[in-house]
Amino acid sequence: MNRKGILFVISGPSGVGKGTLKKALLDQTKDLNLSISATTRPARPGEVHGQHYFFMDQAKFREMIEEDAFLEWAQVYSNLYGTPRGFVLNHLQQGRDVLLEIDIQGALQVKEKMPSGVFIFIYPPNLEELAFRLVSRGQDSQDSIEARLAACENELKHIDYYDYLVVNDKIDHALQKITAIIIAERCKIKNLNMR
Ligand code: 5GP
Repeated sequence: MNRKGILFVISGPSGVGKGTLKKALLDQTKDLNLSISATTRPARPGEVHGQHYFFMDQAKFREMIEEDAFLEWAQVYSNLYGTPRGFVLNHLQQGRDVLLEIDIQGALQVKEKMPSGVFIFIYPPNLEELAFRLVSRGQDSQDSIEARLAACENELKHIDYYDYLVVNDKIDHALQKITAIIIAERCKIKNLNMR
């Protein structure tokens, strides 16, 4: 059966575990194509260009903005991140499902341009838990952790733009819920080309 490609957008506050969920989801879900973002952030140890991100300098990133090559882009803390437009549009046109894992500013831009996407908001069980995760992953300074926690409260204001809320209390539970969302969306009549 021919069907349209579905755009799934996973988003939520920094440190909520989106990255871990994304990896687990890709391992266990068939036919989900991850969009690789461009970023000006330097690669972390073990990160591979073209696999984790397309790493580039500010000049190249700005050039891509000028060329309208991004579906969305945003400054997340001190770095720029963007979703290359071509990959997403080509896959959807070919009936392939695409997954974006992006911050909230980016998700709101995508919602404007592609409102038929499926927008999933990942939220921490509580702010204490988020603070604990940010401290224990050891990538952020005290100031940055405080900024992220303040941003998290603010970000909740955008919850109405999303279709689903998944609280990431335990990774297995959250994964089960996202998988159920994907299965249900794939069964929706409007997503199937029946005529
Ligand atoms: P990290 O640098 O830890 O990999 O990601 C930092 C933040 O940037 C995360 O919240 C992640 O979801 C977000 N991010 C990654 N790629 C993109 C993108 O293409 N666009 C936007 N708007 N945010 C992104």
